[in-house]
Order: sequence, then C-alpha cells, then structure tokens
Amino acid sequence: MELHDVSASAVLTIDFDALAANYRLLRDQVAPAVAAGVVKANGYGLGAVEVAHTLMREGCEHLFVALLCEAEDLLPRLEKAVPVYVLNGLLPGQEETCSRIGAVPVLNSLDQAERWAQEAKRLGQRLPAVVQIDTGMSRMGMEAWEIDAFLADPRFADAFDLKLVMSHLACGDEPENPSNAAQYARMRAAADRFPGIPLALDNSAGSFLPRGHFDMVRTGIAVYGGAPNDKPNPMRAVVSLEVRIAQLRTIAAGTGVGYGLTFHPTRETRIATIPVGYADGWPRCLGNVGSVFIAGQRVPIVGRVSMDSITLDVTDVAPEHLYPGAPVELIGPHQTIDDVARDAGTISYEILTQLSSRYGRVHLGRAMSASSESLSS
Ligand SMILES: *Cc1c(COP(=O)(O)O)cnc(C)c1O
Repeated sequence: MELHDVSASAVLTIDFDALAANYRLLRDQVAPAVAAGVVKANGYGLGAVEVAHTLMREGCEHLFVALLCEAEDLLPRLEKAVPVYVLNGLLPGQEETCSRIGAVPVLNSLDQAERWAQEAKRLGQRLPAVVQIDTGMSRMGMEAWEIDAFLADPRFADAFDLKLVMSHLACGDEPENPSNAAQYARMRAAADRFPGIPLALDNSAGSFLPRGHFDMVRTGIAVYGGAPNDKPNPMRAVVSLEVRIAQLRTIAAGTGVGYGLTFHPTRETRIATIPVGYADGWPRCLGNVGSVFIAGQRVPIVGRVSMDSITLDVTDVAPEHLYPGAPVELIGPHQTIDDVARDAGTISYEILTQLSSRYGRVHLGRAMSASSESLSS
C-alpha cells in the first residue's frame, strides 16, 4: 500500500485483487466463452493500464476501448501484445492512425467498412476488423441492409481479416425484458451469415443471463465491482473513497447552510465540512439528499454540494469521531458505488467514470502500482 499524494484531501483506494477476483468469477461463469476486458474511459476511471495488466494476468487476451485515442494511449503501454478493439469505430480521417498503431476497429456502418477497406488497399494488405451488427439498440452497428451489402461485396472479404461479429444488449440489466431474447435470436441468425467467425453479444449484465454467451463476452462494470443487474451484487467492491473533516462548527436552529441557504436546521446543529465537491465527481444533485458515513454511522449531506466542499449534519455522531482530519467514508463498506448512484438518480458507471483526478490514489494488491512491477516478474 502506498500513499501517492499526501497533499490530496481525499484518497481513492483501488483493490486490484478484488478486480482480479471479479474477473475470475465472470470468466468461470461464461466459459467456454472467453471474457474480454472493457477498459474504456480510463478503465472506468480506475486506470486503463493497471486494469488491463491485472486482467491479462488472469488470462484475459482481448481488450476493448471506446475511442481511437484510448487505444493509442494504451497499446504502447501494454507489456504483452493483445488485440485492442475500438468500440466506437473510426471517424473519417482516423484510419491511418488506427492501422499505424495496430488497433482493431469495430466497423459499425457500411461507411466505416468502406473507409477501412480503402486503408487496406492503400497499404496493400488485409486489415483486422470487427463487425458490429445492430440487433435492436439503434445506437451503433450495421443495419440489415448494410450487412447484406457488406456480405455481397467481395472487396470486403478481400480487405478484412474478420476477428469477431458483435452486438450489444439494450436491456441486459433487466433479465425479464423480452428484448433480450429478441436480440439473442438475431445474433444467432448472424452466425449463419458469418460462418466460422466468433460471435459476442453480452456485457456484464448479459453474462448473468441464464443462457449461452456465444464465443466472447465483454465485461466492464461487474469487474469494477458494480452490480450487473438489480439482483444482490455477487461482485467484490473494488474502490473505496475516504475524505477527512476539514472544519467543524455548531450553528443555531434556523441558520442557513451552503449556497442558496437551502438547509435550515430546526435544532442546534453540528456541521462538518469535507473537502470534496462536484468538481471531484460527487454529484451536485446529492445536496440535501445523499449521505456519507462516519465511524459506521450514516450522516446526511445538508445544503448544496459545492464545487470543492460538502457540508454534513454530524449532530448525532459521538464527539470522539469529530475532529479536523477525522475520516469520513464516501464509498466503502457502508456505502457502495451503487448506493451512491441510486441516491443520485444515476448508475454506478457514472459514479466511477467521474472519480476525480484530484483524489490521491492507493493501489492494493498485485496492481502495477507506479509501474513498479513487471508482468514477467
Ligand atoms: C461499455 C460496453 C461494454 C461493457 O459493458 P458493462 O455493462 O460495463 O459490462 C460492452 N460492450 C459495449 C459495446 C460497450 O459499449
């Protein structure tokens, strides 16, 4: 364990052993399908390189990012060459960079396929590619007419070394939703049209649906400890976030607190101020709504969340736990990322991906903390 940054006000602890255990759970669950790692958005805020190496140590051999710039950042820092797929595909003009760095684009439209085929022609070689088909989300992926055109055109067969045909579930986190079966059936049908090419449909939530998982799943949030669906969460928590009390005061009943003076206590109230705010990704909508924990006791956020601070009503907390520098749990054993997300009306993905760069970071377990450990060691 190592504290990177004593000058930071709050410390985010990332448990890479828990991350590895979560990956193993998913991997074993979806076998014989293989579990790819999704490390987009800097590994859901936790560090794409550290997450990638942790997963690769558990046997993960396929990585997905969302954007070409993410692949450009990640590829040279990987200690072992594994394919890095770009989920969003290529915007016009990105083809040359993609082929130069050796990333594998997901071709989401006929237009993207045309441009990647032109790049193959320019280089005079076949290029690796993934085809995404739209099985019913209307976001990314080729529509039926595009797949027809793609398969009818021999230029594409010549240009591409097709690695994977994929699609994405719209409602995987709602196991009873009939769209899951409809998307599964459309994926099945694709197998006949792309004989011999591996298929991938499921994300974390889909990996928990009681059916087969084709040849590959793409695991994100569950590996990072988030609940894959609305059932009790089987995953281990990966992050915890602790801040320290900056200041304490006692205010009289009726005194206003924070911007807009939106909180007026009806009794004499002890207020603690902590140095975390919406600029750190702590949602502003948690003002007068959310909670934190002190010594295991729930403490309400009162007043608005400011950019860099939050005020708490600590009147009911025993005085021995209240002093400048006293620890306050924002995420931890009493409050999961899903609890915070629920209070904020969002999802754990958003809580994780907004985690502040101002937090000090402590890495637990066999992570590549400060790149001090090499994969081969
Ligand atoms: C983000 C993403 C995933 C990972 O989803 P999780 O719900 O985090 O497991 C998988 N596939 C695609 C296409 C994605 O965009």
